[in-house]
Amino acid sequence: MALIVQKYGGTSVADAERIRNVASRIVATKEKGNQVVVVVSAMGDTTDDLIKLANQVASKPSERELDVLLSTGEIVSSTLLAMTLKDMGHEAISLSGAQAGIQTDSAYSSARILKIEAKRVIKELENGNIVIVAGFQGITDGMDTTTLGRGGSDTTAVALAAALGAEVCERYTDVEGVYTADPRIVPEALRLPEIGYEEMLELATYGSKVMHPRAIELGGLYGIPILVASSFCDKPGTLIHGGISMEIRNKVSSIAHDFDVAKVTIVGVPDRVGIAAGIFEPLAQAGISVDTIVQNASVDNITDLTFTVSKSQLPAAMEVVKPIARSIGARECVSDSKLGKVSIIGTGMQNTPGYAAKMFRALSEKGINIQLITTSEIRITCIIQEAKVKDAVRVLHQAFELEK
Ligand code: ADP
Ligand code: ASP
Ligand code: MG
Repeated sequence: MALIVQKYGGTSVADAERIRNVASRIVATKEKGNQVVVVVSAMGDTTDDLIKLANQVASKPSERELDVLLSTGEIVSSTLLAMTLKDMGHEAISLSGAQAGIQTDSAYSSARILKIEAKRVIKELENGNIVIVAGFQGITDGMDTTTLGRGGSDTTAVALAAALGAEVCERYTDVEGVYTADPRIVPEALRLPEIGYEEMLELATYGSKVMHPRAIELGGLYGIPILVASSFCDKPGTLIHGGISMEIRNKVSSIAHDFDVAKVTIVGVPDRVGIAAGIFEPLAQAGISVDTIVQNASVDNITDLTFTVSKSQLPAAMEVVKPIARSIGARECVSDSKLGKVSIIGTGMQNTPGYAAKMFRALSEKGINIQLITTSEIRITCIIQEAKVKDAVRVLHQAFELEK
């Protein structure tokens, strides 16, 4: 008897009919002789709606209360799914993150799982239950509810799979797997039959909503194979795993994009020891997560320093940086909140020249101006105007012949 963890995303449980569809798929898995643990997201746009409500009652909602509020979305879907399964004649029980033993640190809205005390889940499985766990949430040692960050139900699922020693974590969504680019932007994008953890981690970190980055990190760390597939049909999907053969690592495998980039430039910064630390320490203390950082070569000991943050963090970042810029004698502090990024990803790029040039040429032929460039061994990212992101994804998909 195998133990399988399945995760169903918000679109897959968006209404009563879809919950019944998901329940039938779970029953089919159980009837093949498996033990099944299911993790669910909140129904449809519930999380967005709850955030809007919170912002209507408070200008700066309390972080603690917000996490409790958001966690209720997944409680609703998990209880409805358990009721549906029982109604269909199957033993099932829903558990909140806390009841499932998911212990986290106390970083509200982006908590990390410290440990899973899986006794209760195991007991319920032994009692013959299908166990439905509310995704995206956990509890601190002080018994406060936390959430794991947007898209965090994926992380709940992979963490549970690791803690329970599951054979596989199946992640069901509204697309048939991981594609060479977002199929909503590039209709001719192709499904990848398989992808390695490292490429998938770059894809997820650089914008692809199809998997939460921390879920991939955990999958790689514990060697949990993750199947991404559709909950609306029975197609094969994409297997994320570590055993990808060297031979197919020979090109760009996918294009990622992200519409959520804002840029801050401090102009005319004196080039002295300790200046960067003096800027980025207060940003970190304010909980602002900085992505790309670029410092120009200095002329006459004066330089410009640019960094990017998510759009929602731009006001807070400017609040922190402006007084520092003034105190160190920088000329001015400017920002741009209408940016995005596009990345090409592939392990085959390692030590192979020509990929960057080809990317920049393709973008320039479309009249797309590159503002910043960052790279890793298996990724090249260009920061561009938000309005150009979709065009950039399409032109790069073509340039690297990913539709073939
Ligand atoms: P769920 O509701 O199941 O959590 P999400 O909306 O979070 O689903 O993630 C699935 C979406 O991810 C797809 O509908 C698709 O538009 C988007 N996506 C972005 N990049 C990719 C990609 N490379 N492959 C597949 N889907 C992608
Ligand atoms: N409901 C949460 C969100 O919308 C978590 C998740 O779906 O994974 O981000
Ligand atoms: Mg999601």
